[in-house]
Amino acid sequence: MTFNGMALADYHIHPDYSIDATGTIEEYCAMALEKNLVEICFTTHYDSNPRGSEGERVMRVDGKAMPLSPETVKRYYDEVRAAQEKYFPLGLEVKCGIEVGYWQGCEEPIAALFRKFPFDYKLVAIHDIDDICICCSSRYEACFSRFVVTEMADKYFSLVKHAAQSQLFDCLAHLDVYKKYGLRYYGNEILTVHRGRIESVLETMAENNLGLEINTAALRRGHSEYYPSMEIVNLARQAGVRIAAIGSDAHKPEEVAFDFEVAAGVAYELFPYCDE
Ligand SMILES: [Zn+2]
Ligand SMILES: [Zn+2]
Repeated sequence: MTFNGMALADYHIHPDYSIDATGTIEEYCAMALEKNLVEICFTTHYDSNPRGSEGERVMRVDGKAMPLSPETVKRYYDEVRAAQEKYFPLGLEVKCGIEVGYWQGCEEPIAALFRKFPFDYKLVAIHDIDDICICCSSRYEACFSRFVVTEMADKYFSLVKHAAQSQLFDCLAHLDVYKKYGLRYYGNEILTVHRGRIESVLETMAENNLGLEINTAALRRGHSEYYPSMEIVNLARQAGVRIAAIGSDAHKPEEVAFDFEVAAGVAYELFPYCDE
């Protein structure tokens, strides 16, 4: 799989260390080779919000949900590093990243985590508003029922600003992920709620060198555009926010590089200075 002869990389992949994913690191690497990718970056979930819901704050190790700890992270980290040893000679670069769910107050424990594990790529995601998951099918209503759409957006974007200002991360995952379930909950207003709100958020991202990703998973959720929408991608370009990567947010091996021919067009044609 290439775009205009350029080799492609998928920088958002969940192996089965993520509790909501299937497929071993081996299986993902084999799939990436099959799809002719030159590089993949694993980004398992690290949702450590102490005020979050029951069932979060876990990582799957040896088929069992284990509490997040340096030991569980080490198992993941070491297995990805071993995969790089095995697959690099076969033509696939395997990077070790992580997707941190942001919560206010996470700065110190996450900085400590990053001192212990020198990840190649640090993604940050806003998964929770008021400590309730907005991306989980079983919980988003409990969160959205507290707010009208504009209040929800203000809360979400404020968290993005805090995440940017922490300067701990390379890239923000799925920038307008509030639309995942927000479209069915709030209706079409969700698609324009960023107007007049996101501009200052993008400035904060640019100032703090937090990039964004083109995340193709939205298409698998019945949306007509990626995370984020083209309108937001264009606003980001105006604000000088870089596109750090393209990611499929694969939760099973067959989703690797999902819709990447089109996504690469978006990234490369609009952002000739894109570094991936
Ligand atoms: Zn996410
Ligand atoms: Zn993800």
